[in-house]
Amino acid sequence: MSSSIVYCPCQSKKRYADCCLPLHLGQETAVNAEALMRSRYTAYVLQKIDYIVQTTALAQQDLLDLSEMLTWSKETHWDGLDVIKQQAKTTKRHAQVEFKAFYQTTQGRAYHHELSTFVYIDDRWYFLDPTVDLAITMKQPCLCGSGQKFKHCCAVYL
Ligand code: ZN
Ligand code: ZN
Repeated sequence: MSSSIVYCPCQSKKRYADCCLPLHLGQETAVNAEALMRSRYTAYVLQKIDYIVQTTALAQQDLLDLSEMLTWSKETHWDGLDVIKQQAKTTKRHAQVEFKAFYQTTQGRAYHHELSTFVYIDDRWYFLDPTVDLAITMKQPCLCGSGQKFKHCCAVYL
């Protein structure tokens, strides 16, 4: 599929080669949280699960259910993305993006409406997955790798 598409599935109106492809190939990193979110949506459309994993907060990566992600990615009839709002930075290292990801069902078009949180570590954005339970305490170092205590860092977003 990736070889046949021209315009990027994230609906940036740009060509895939000029949009999410360089991110998927590791040639570029996302310039902001919205760009990362778009590239993750496109990765789901194209079933690039490795990319989804690599762009999730480091300590959460091993806990992701890859087969479930692949199944979800394959069985969903993705049908577009609408970025509603990007809050550039909610803290020094966090940003949130509100979006709708559309898909087709037998009853018609439906969507996931989400407010996703991203964390910026060592010059890269990562997705903070609120569904991954790390069993971390408030006083422990944060799962994102910032070196701060969890309660002062990502805890409010999870
Ligand atoms: Zn794109
Ligand atoms: Zn953190």
